Amino acid sequence: MNMPMQSSARSEIKTNVVVIGGGHNGLVGSCYLAKAGHKVVVVEAQNNIGGMTSSGHFIKSAPDHIIHPCAVDTIFIRTSGIIEDLDLKNHGFSSIDTDPSYAYLAPDGESIAFWRDPVKTADEIGRYSPSDARAYLEFANTLEALLSVALPMMRTDSRRPSFKEIISTIRSSISNRRRLGEIGALALGSADQAVAERFDHPLVVAALLGLAGGAGPIDADGSGLGHIIAALLHKVGVGRPVGGMQSLSDSLKRCLNKDGGTVLTGTPVEEILVAKGQAEGVRLADGRIIRADCVLAACDPRTALGRLLPDGALDKRMRARVEHIPANSRGAAPMKVDLALRGRVEISKHQKLRKDDVDLRKPALLIGTAEDIRSSFSSSIRGELTPDLYFWAAIPTACDPTQAPPGQDVLYLYPPAVPAYPAEGWQVLREKAENIIISRASSYFDNLDSLEIGRWVETPMDLGARTGAFNGCVTHVDFALLRSGPLRPAWGLGGYETPIKGLFLGAAGSHPGGGVSGIPGKLAAVRVRRFLDRIS
Ligand SMILES: Cc1cc2nc3c(=O)[nH]c(=O)nc-3n(C[C@H](O)[C@H](O)[C@H](O)COP(=O)(O)OP(=O)(O)OC[C@H]3O[C@@H](n4cnc5c(N)ncnc54)[C@H](O)[C@@H]3O)c2cc1C
Repeated sequence: MNMPMQSSARSEIKTNVVVIGGGHNGLVGSCYLAKAGHKVVVVEAQNNIGGMTSSGHFIKSAPDHIIHPCAVDTIFIRTSGIIEDLDLKNHGFSSIDTDPSYAYLAPDGESIAFWRDPVKTADEIGRYSPSDARAYLEFANTLEALLSVALPMMRTDSRRPSFKEIISTIRSSISNRRRLGEIGALALGSADQAVAERFDHPLVVAALLGLAGGAGPIDADGSGLGHIIAALLHKVGVGRPVGGMQSLSDSLKRCLNKDGGTVLTGTPVEEILVAKGQAEGVRLADGRIIRADCVLAACDPRTALGRLLPDGALDKRMRARVEHIPANSRGAAPMKVDLALRGRVEISKHQKLRKDDVDLRKPALLIGTAEDIRSSFSSSIRGELTPDLYFWAAIPTACDPTQAPPGQDVLYLYPPAVPAYPAEGWQVLREKAENIIISRASSYFDNLDSLEIGRWVETPMDLGARTGAFNGCVTHVDFALLRSGPLRPAWGLGGYETPIKGLFLGAAGSHPGGGVSGIPGKLAAVRVRRFLDRIS
């Protein structure tokens, strides 16, 4: 076993790699490194591993209801090969495919389901607008082309792309050459523009904007890329982890432990130790030192390269660059409200209008008109909260009833766009926001008042404080074209290496970005391995 060594100074641990952050990216990177024979110690600030891929019994009055404070569905990781490489199924990870994976709920009871099959999705759209149905099939083809060009690059180190992935991108670009202009317009324009160019029916427009809004402001140039989620759900589908998202993190920890890696929880890193321009380990908040050949920072890059580095470790220019890394820079941030319920929650108005056997309790639900979605983002820029808040919802217990006592449910409510910096401050706005979210949800979900046992509420400020993510940014760094590939998180900081020798970045703030993918952790581990090989 590659156990870390206690050094002669009793408070010091020695290891090859110390990983800051036990979110899924930190754990994925650690697993690959431990598998390659390196001694790895992961240090996680919270008492539990997982970061934004955690779930658990967070409501005191409902100790048997599993709550998801952040991610609930897996999509990107299904493209990464990580589940197979690390044999996560044998470490306790499994998921249930949802098909349809998403459904848009209109205020009047109508709904549009997003199926794995784009033709079935177009058929749904055709119930409202035959021309939008045709446009959807065409859009799905463009998105598929975009994905086939982009995916190989998303899976490789953008500063040292593998030959295989370059060839794959070139091949896809050639075979989709007639669509490249359209892909360019989609990638450079806004998500709202991409929809306006193609669709007319208000329900269809709202459904597509609601889906893309999960990636960030739909009016920002470059946000058109957010429609890639539709391509992914058609290509790889959506999986909901059995037992909750924590099971992904726990399976990674088991895999790491098997290869000798160690995880310390409740141990925030206070400082990255740097001597002569080289990272030498970390100092924990409790004063302990972990000496290491190198440090992999799998927390957000503004924390890693800002708060945790000693003064003077970065020059003025690089320090300024770090301080300007955008995180919810357009003023919109996520909020979460989860309700533990004493019974089964129904969506009867919408369910009754469906003419098929789709159970609307199972997919992730998109709620709000196109105007609600636009005003959620535009109000946030002004530091205001719109009363017509748009939100995502899910009933994780509908797919996996083990997450609550028999016959009971959990309702997950997630508005992606509330103000990051409200004029009134979150201390004041918190209760108002909570009431708006519950009242909006009550017009879609039956009897919430009488069903509620307890709730979990997290504002962007709380999320930032709990997970360490700057401004509570779900992707650590804004999802934007100019923060993609080698430019993520900033010019000169792409490719997982930093100006400090032996200090690497490997979480959502690095290529290819946020979401439950594990890819930043996996690719950072390759860089770390090369470094360790060089110095050994
Ligand atoms: C509300 C919400 C819903 C989401 N839904 C989905 C979804 O359904 N599907 C999806 O694909 N994505 C979703 N996402 C996005 C996704 O969860 C994240 O982008 C992704 O999990 C980030 O993973 P990570 O490992 O890079 O970072 P994190 O999960 O943020 O992990 C970083 C870790 O570093 C730790 N840390 C920070 N500072 C220190 C320190 N000083 N010392 C020690 N440890 C430290 C943190 O505690 C944390 O555990 C959602 C996000 C949110 C917030």
